[in-house]
Amino acid sequence: MPAEESSAAIVLRTRDYSESDRIVTLLTLNAGKLGGIAKGAKQSRRRFERKLEVFSHVMVYFRRRPHGELVFLTRAEAAGLPPFDLTDDLGKIALGSYMVELADALSREEAESAGAYRILAAALGAVSRHGAGRAIRQAFELNLLRWAGYQLEFRQCQVCGRTPSENATAFVFVPSYGGIVCQRCRGAAPESFIGMTGDSVAALAHLGSIPIAEAAAAPHAAGRDAEAALARFFATVLDRKLRSVEFLQRFV
Ligand SMILES: [Zn+2]
Repeated sequence: MPAEESSAAIVLRTRDYSESDRIVTLLTLNAGKLGGIAKGAKQSRRRFERKLEVFSHVMVYFRRRPHGELVFLTRAEAAGLPPFDLTDDLGKIALGSYMVELADALSREEAESAGAYRILAAALGAVSRHGAGRAIRQAFELNLLRWAGYQLEFRQCQVCGRTPSENATAFVFVPSYGGIVCQRCRGAAPESFIGMTGDSVAALAHLGSIPIAEAAAAPHAAGRDAEAALARFFATVLDRKLRSVEFLQRFV
């Protein structure tokens, strides 16, 4: 029998498999993204001390199966991991659902995901404490994109390298450049671009450079123009449309 392994994990997705079993997708600290089957998850409070539901923060114990895609989950414990408390507010649920769906879409099974786990844990913790806010959402998006290899640049023009000056007001975001282009260079932009105000550019530059836990205290979030720019970028790098976006737009 394969050795038992363990890791801290956040539940991204679940589905019932039978009367008593549950299949879960986990983002783990030590074992990448994992799909697992929890036999008796719905009955056994002894083995599954903390329930396996979306947003659950658990220490999971599991065995790999020689030919199975799913690992066999033997136990899930609280183990001192802070729970994420999102269920008291629809906005928190909407933003949390978007965060787990985005983390799922940007991570791959069998690949290292400790950074994504830490970013998601920090973000869900911030939403639990401070509520659903645009600054937390944007800091999460920029941090997760950087983890996935997409470092978006809002501090300098991607064509001429000039730093936006105080009184500059208009920029464009060019998805294929992964950053902003100043007004003088926008003629060189190769494709459709999204206009952004100087305020939004400055807000994203700030939010992309601070830990997520500090985002709730940021002076301000970027506006709807930034949301459109990031949505366009996600559309170019994700292979699916995120189902949670429409629900989220009603709150954040
Ligand atoms: Zn320029």
